Amino acid sequence: MSNYVEMWKDLGMDLENHDNLCAVLPVAFGDVYLSQENRPEGMGFWDFVVSEIHGIRPAELVEARKNGQKVFGTFCVYVPDEVVIAANGIVTGLCGGSQFWVPDGEKVLPKSTCPLIKASVGARLGKTCPFFRLADMYVGETTCDGKKKAWEILGEDVPMHIMDIPQMKRAEDIERWAGEIKKFAKVVEELTGNEITIEKLNEAIKTVNEKRKAMARVYEARKAEKLPISGKDALLMSQIAFFDDPTRCAQMCNKLADELDKRIEDGVSVFPAGTKRILLTGTPLAIPNWKLHHIVETSGAAVVCEEMCTGTRYFENLVDDSCQTLDEAYMALAQRYMKTNCACFTPNTGRIDDLVRLAKEYKVDGVIDVNLKFCCLYDTEGYNVEKAMKAAGIPVLGIETDYTDTDAEQLKTRVQAFVEMLG
Ligand code: SF4
Ligand code: SF4
Repeated sequence: MSNYVEMWKDLGMDLENHDNLCAVLPVAFGDVYLSQENRPEGMGFWDFVVSEIHGIRPAELVEARKNGQKVFGTFCVYVPDEVVIAANGIVTGLCGGSQFWVPDGEKVLPKSTCPLIKASVGARLGKTCPFFRLADMYVGETTCDGKKKAWEILGEDVPMHIMDIPQMKRAEDIERWAGEIKKFAKVVEELTGNEITIEKLNEAIKTVNEKRKAMARVYEARKAEKLPISGKDALLMSQIAFFDDPTRCAQMCNKLADELDKRIEDGVSVFPAGTKRILLTGTPLAIPNWKLHHIVETSGAAVVCEEMCTGTRYFENLVDDSCQTLDEAYMALAQRYMKTNCACFTPNTGRIDDLVRLAKEYKVDGVIDVNLKFCCLYDTEGYNVEKAMKAAGIPVLGIETDYTDTDAEQLKTRVQAFVEMLG
């Protein structure tokens, strides 16, 4: 990635420390990904993106900014990309998934903050991620307490808009969320200098719907008895979808889905017959957090679905793209986004319903409920997940972990015992 040094300098990055990150990432990717056999050819695109992760897409964004476009960095699947795209802006995900960024986050945050928040703050303050340097504006949300406080710290360093997410899903909450999206649209219009019209918003809704449909096709292939793709590869597709251009993302996912359909037709599987099928649920797995998938898929099981924000929550449910007025479209967006089931809502019975449905659709043998350390929302909701899975007769294993490798051996032992128990 040496060709990008000038760009990184211009972005004010700490080059010396960034070199340390660039040194470890290819090794980790090689160990986890390139060691797999019989991968779909279509994964070549995502392998290439990872090999240039701090170069190729940031360079596109730098170019776009030179041409007057604005980049919005987001941290949550509730923030509607459609509004930004309608104003000719660009969205990039900013959730940090590496332990590398955690120590810089811990300089300003309590250690007892979840690693995702610490890594996200650390990536900005430590100046070691070009995406965090590039964004013209960060868009935060009031989902969990840790994030709410982190926005105040990040807001000292970068322009920040915060969307007030309801904590319940009553009719009045959805209406309030539509109002919040409308306010966000005004902020986006001001920063980009572009007016959002109903035509542009419907067009943006179509673009994002196409991306969702394409990702859903890849997931659909994972319902097959003979699995044409590993969970690790599907996770990588989801993780990079947060950074990529949405139209290109849809094209590449559709291309991969075509190949997977063909593999299903030909009976090609990347796992031996009888491999146990695991559904992962819980907190998001931001790139490059591949830890649990790697453990599961080297313990005699396969991950067939992620009920996570880096999974089904990101692409399920479409938005009506035929609204006549902006207010109607903001409401249509609010309705779709409020169908996402995050543990920050109370009650959050929709997530339990989703889990039971997905477990059936993907014919899973067991569920692993993964919780990032210090996320008390998902940790507490684990009680309901376990209760519901037991009632549905689905074995469940609860796991708490962080971004370090210190617990990897212990986790592997527990996962192996769980897989053996599945028979
Ligand atoms: S887990 Fe909740 S807060 Fe985190 S990205 Fe998903 S919806 Fe947003
Ligand atoms: S994992 Fe939990 S604590 Fe961490 S950002 Fe998401 S909701 Fe907040």
